[in-house]
Amino acid sequence: MSIRQEDIESIVNEVLSKLGGSGEVIRAAAGAADGAGGDHGVFERLEDAVAAAQRAHKAIPTVAIREKVIRVIRRAARANARRLAEMAVEETGMGRIEDKIRKNMLVATRTPGPEVLTPAAISGDTGLTLIENAPWGVIASVTPSTNPAATVINNAISMISGGNAVVFAPHPSAKRTTQEAIRILNRALEEEAGVANLLVCVREPSIEVAQKLFTFPGINLLVVTGGEAVVEAARKVTDKRLIAAGAGNPPVVVDETADLARAAKSIYDGASFDNNIICADEKEIIAVDAIADQLKAEMKACGAVEITPDQAETLARAVLLDYPGPKRRPNPKWVGRDARELARAAGFDVPESCRLLLVDVGRDVDHVFARVEQMMPILPVLRANDFREALDWAMLLERGLSHTAGLHSRNIENMDAMARRMNTSLFVKNGPHVAGLGAGGEGWTSMTISTPTGEGVTNARSFVRLRRCTLVGSFRIV
Ligand code: NAD
Repeated sequence: MSIRQEDIESIVNEVLSKLGGSGEVIRAAAGAADGAGGDHGVFERLEDAVAAAQRAHKAIPTVAIREKVIRVIRRAARANARRLAEMAVEETGMGRIEDKIRKNMLVATRTPGPEVLTPAAISGDTGLTLIENAPWGVIASVTPSTNPAATVINNAISMISGGNAVVFAPHPSAKRTTQEAIRILNRALEEEAGVANLLVCVREPSIEVAQKLFTFPGINLLVVTGGEAVVEAARKVTDKRLIAAGAGNPPVVVDETADLARAAKSIYDGASFDNNIICADEKEIIAVDAIADQLKAEMKACGAVEITPDQAETLARAVLLDYPGPKRRPNPKWVGRDARELARAAGFDVPESCRLLLVDVGRDVDHVFARVEQMMPILPVLRANDFREALDWAMLLERGLSHTAGLHSRNIENMDAMARRMNTSLFVKNGPHVAGLGAGGEGWTSMTISTPTGEGVTNARSFVRLRRCTLVGSFRIV
């Protein structure tokens, strides 16, 4: 016997009305049982996914519902942090399971919820104006292969807190993990909050599907998290508001006043975290020459292994595509691999405990590992004559991406000069760069750091429309 969708809705609504609940919520939940309702958010057709997200967005009209939804997402994400971390490493070959668990736990815990959306009021002689945070509706979120589950959890919390539903465009090479994260969160939301399809995607993600979303009807805001090519592609064609979280090549400068043991440990821990695939991670070290040897010694004491320039050259040929050549770029096969696997690819070995390789490139600011966003645990160490030159090089290597830079120093004037001149979305002093993402530093966490379009470390406030309502001549209480 087949039961029609309207019949399911009517039965459910009758039960609900007796319980005193919301018909809208249950209608959205009932969608999960219908043929076009997909598999806990995973749909065959993009049209159905977007339509389901449009219905779901309407099912979370109140702050109370959104708070409940976010509680459920946090719980489900924490409970599945290990499983999703294991899946991501197994599917993409990138990163480290223990680090990915930390990342999943971090975003589940420290991504802010609806509480950050406070309205503003302006009261004066001519009356009262209220500025409210309204949802966009349905957001399209293009996600990277490097943080597949963490980006879903993080964006889900930030975007739903703003009252939105999300259509994800997963990276094809991280499709299973991204879809599993979506299914896990939807299942928990269906069971514990009675809401379906707040997070959706299609079963076969591709670059073409992502490009369709750039102009797809019913998408009100486009959020792209990825490299320079996808940001450029979206910018060219979209007629929607765009929030772009793009590539970085973050330099870290160490001057002669730094606490070198602390700097070495920060850089070792930060640059090797998840094998250097976080966009904000340290990608090249620029040390003032006078302390460069001591810094290297301290990093080796942490576990780093220094390789020779010849070994680095062999490594570059093994793990980069089109190298040497103007289009040299990381081979996705080697992105986020363990230091030991990289070493073996270049024909040498390092201890299993080694998380980071170093190569002293002297004054060679054109060295390929300094210029390319390698996203592998191999860091070049450059030797600058003084802080001024180090800062010039940092500007050159960050190349106007406005993403992240770091400094280890006790000199306040140097801190001030670098913060101002780099003009990056994140600037981290005397700690690992991930501290700027709330891992060991103050502030909230995000895996979507909007650099070219300027929203910075995103949270729910980045994903709302500001709406103003003005009442003339009354409602003041003073
Ligand atoms: P990627 O650019 O290859 O892919 C990102 C997403 O864009 C994927 O979903 C992919 O399918 C899609 N895509 C790629 N090219 C496209 C095109 N021409 N048209 C439409 N869609 C396209 O990136 P990746 O390798 O998965 O991730 C690493 C990159 O992302 C690095 O450059 C890193 O710095 C950046 N990143 C930035 C942030 C941030 O918050 N700023 C966060 C994570 C990753």
